[in-house]
This record gives sequence, structure tokens and C-alpha cells, in this order.
Amino acid sequence: MTMRVVDIIARKRDGRDLSTEEINYMVHGLTVGTIPDYQVSAWLMAVYLKGMTLEETVALTMAMAQSGRLVDLSGIPGIKVDKHSTGGVGDTTTLVVAPIVAAAGVPVAKMSGRGLGFTGGTIDKLEAIPGFSPAIGMPSFLRQIRRHQLAVISQTGDLAPADGLLYALRDVTATVESIPLIASSIMSKKIAAGADKILLDVKVGNGAFMHGLQDAVLLAQTMVKIGKMSGRETVALLTGMDEPLGYAVGNGLEVQEAIDILSGRVQGRLRELCLTLSAHMLVMAKASNSIHEGREKAIHLLDEGIALKKFVDFIAAQGGNPDVVVNPDLLPVAQFRREVAAARDGYIQRIDTAEIGYSAVILGAGREFKGQQIDLAAGLVMKCRVGDYVTRNQPLAVLYSNRQDALKPANAKVMAAIVIGGRLAPPTKLILGFVDDSGFHLD
Ligand code: URA
Ligand code: CA
Repeated sequence: MTMRVVDIIARKRDGRDLSTEEINYMVHGLTVGTIPDYQVSAWLMAVYLKGMTLEETVALTMAMAQSGRLVDLSGIPGIKVDKHSTGGVGDTTTLVVAPIVAAAGVPVAKMSGRGLGFTGGTIDKLEAIPGFSPAIGMPSFLRQIRRHQLAVISQTGDLAPADGLLYALRDVTATVESIPLIASSIMSKKIAAGADKILLDVKVGNGAFMHGLQDAVLLAQTMVKIGKMSGRETVALLTGMDEPLGYAVGNGLEVQEAIDILSGRVQGRLRELCLTLSAHMLVMAKASNSIHEGREKAIHLLDEGIALKKFVDFIAAQGGNPDVVVNPDLLPVAQFRREVAAARDGYIQRIDTAEIGYSAVILGAGREFKGQQIDLAAGLVMKCRVGDYVTRNQPLAVLYSNRQDALKPANAKVMAAIVIGGRLAPPTKLILGFVDDSGFHLD
């Protein structure tokens, strides 16, 4: 039977379910370029408007995963657990969690991407460390994991290439915010990257894709079910993004905060979430018997400097200067700096987190389009949290940039994003709950 793309589009337009063969046909055709962008775009809009069943979403995920190279991690002993965040602001967990988990003897084989828009990427952050290279090639990647239990490599174009093509079209056809499309996009890359098990950090709030808990739970449940049906046990934490996770937003600044946590100098929400993520990864890798035990182990590895030592070995193995952990001046330093001052006394009511992220982009820390050069020294450091009491002229944040003319507009944006009022405001929630095979559990 020959298939016609126009019929597949029409079926989805009319709200009918597509067969695995039809989905495979679409994904194959768009990957090799025989289906033009206008037909793929029309199909994406039909999927956006009519949705997909779980079976269709799994078929789409597997077709995208198989559109390129499948990484084979089977030569590395142990259960390989990958962690993925759906993207937040000041979300530096990988740089802390990966060394903790690796220090517990669990192999961490991490493929990461670069940042786009207001969310950062692990590869950009690591490149703020002088000498560090994420372009090490697959053989050294695997060798380094065997030797140090930890390596980070940039995601190459041959990993789920169909997702790259679809994402570029979604971005310009207003079809990004679709649960089956987001779920299949994320899971296809994790599956292609070779993970045995997947831990997801689904962000919820005004600095995330998902603004409400209900949508986030639906996305999490979809990904957990895709994981189950593709034989990769998946657990999803739902975590708050109604303010930046850490204090720092910007590549070099976030590396400094991660080092501060690994060195035991900084407590707070970012460290807290890193401990929870590490605990779940240790349980999934069967290195701990319970979340409580995993958490205790993670605290021990941090307190004893064992995770920091692992971080040092890892960056040195990839050409980075390990002295960066004792000498912050080795990280890129911005030429210009400006404090954002509170306009009045009061409590911090609300922080528009996406706007904080965009402010960092204005300062040079993020990309507006793929491939854009960024300033690894740029960004901002938050000096307040929701619920804090501040007085007039007190610094709310400190801006860093190598472009002097960026400071004024970024200052205005940060001022507008941080709402001060007379009412006492409760702190934002960090961990809202988690989804596993048995359903959604409130934290
Ligand atoms: N992250 C992805 O990788 N894909 C999406 O569609 C959304 C977030
Ligand atoms: Ca094309």
C-alpha cells in the first residue's frame, strides 16, 4: 500500500488516530527530506489541535529516536540513569548531581545541549571552564566513563535528527506547546542517548513551559508511560519554577554556584533539589534502597568533598583547568556590573522568572537564535527570593555584562519582573510531587 502525506494530514485533521506505519512514514520522510516543510508544518498543527493517543505518542517517540544514531552504552557495567530537566532559569542541577551520583559509583553518561531562549544548556556552562572540551568523540566518552564514571559530551546532529527538524518547524509554526510533541521530543533524545532509566525534572511555574501543575502532571505522566512502553523505567519529579532555582543566572556564574555547592559553601534551594534528584537517581540505579538512604549518601558525598573531587577529576579529564574550584578568577569575568536597587520597602510578592531569564539574554548570557555567540561571563545574581522583606535601595540583583549598553535595559526588565508589595508572601514551593509507574504522588 502506498501512503500519501496529504491523507495522513487529513486523518489527523479530522481527529482520527494514526497507525505506527503512518507515523513512521512521516518521520522517515521528513528526516530524509522527501516530505516538504509545508506538509510537515500542516501535520504538526493538526497534531497540536487534535492531540495524540499514548500509542501514537510512543510510535512518534520511537520513530524519532531511530531517525539517527542510537548510542550503545551496554559496554559500561551498571545501570545507566540519565537525568533531564524540561528547562528552567538558574537551573544548574547537572553540574552538581552528576558528580554526586558518579562519586557513588554509578556511571553517568551525559549528552547535553546548548541553551536556547531563556533556558541555559549544560554544554555552554561547562565551556566557561577554561580548557574544558565537550567535543571528545564517542570512544573517549565511553573510555572516560569507565575510568571516572562521568563524562559529558555535546549532543551531535545525528542524535534523533527528526526531533531537530521538527523542533525548528514547531518553533516558527506556534506548535511547541503540545504535550505529545514535547514528550516525544524529550524522550526520543533520552532513548537515543542510550539510557537504561530516565529521571525527569519537570518544571512548573512562570519560568517554565508548563505554567500550571495540571498540565505538568499530564506531561510527566505521558513521559513516564512512554518510558514504560519503551522499556526504560522513567520517574518524573515536578519542581517549582516560580523564581530562579539558584541565585545565579548565566553560564560562568552558574558554574561558580555549582562549585560553591560542591564545596559546601552554599546551602539553599538549588542544593536541596540536587540532593533529591541524586537520591532518586541512586535508587533507580539500585545504589540505594530508599530515597531517604540515597539522600543521606548524597549529603555524605558532598560534606566529605568526595563529589567535589569527582568534579575535579571529570573536568581535568576533558581538558579543563581544575584550579577553577579554588580560584574563581579563572572563570570569565564581566567588564561591567550594576546593582538593581529596590524602588520601595516591602515583601517580594512575585518574581516573573521568564523575564529574569530574558534579562540574562539581554546581558549576553543566552541565545535568541541557534548558533549565536554568547558571553559566558554575562548574567545576573539574584539577591532576593519570593517572601523576603527588602528596603528601598537594597540590591535585588547584580547584573554582569561585557556590553555596557545592555545594563540599562536589563535593569529595567529585572525591576519590572520583581514585584514588591505590602503583603507577606509565602515562599514558593520547591518540590511539588513526583510521577512514577503507579501515578502522581504529592510531595
Ligand atoms: N525540550 C525539548 O527537548 N523538546 C521540547 O519540545 C520541549 C522542551
Ligand atoms: Ca525539511
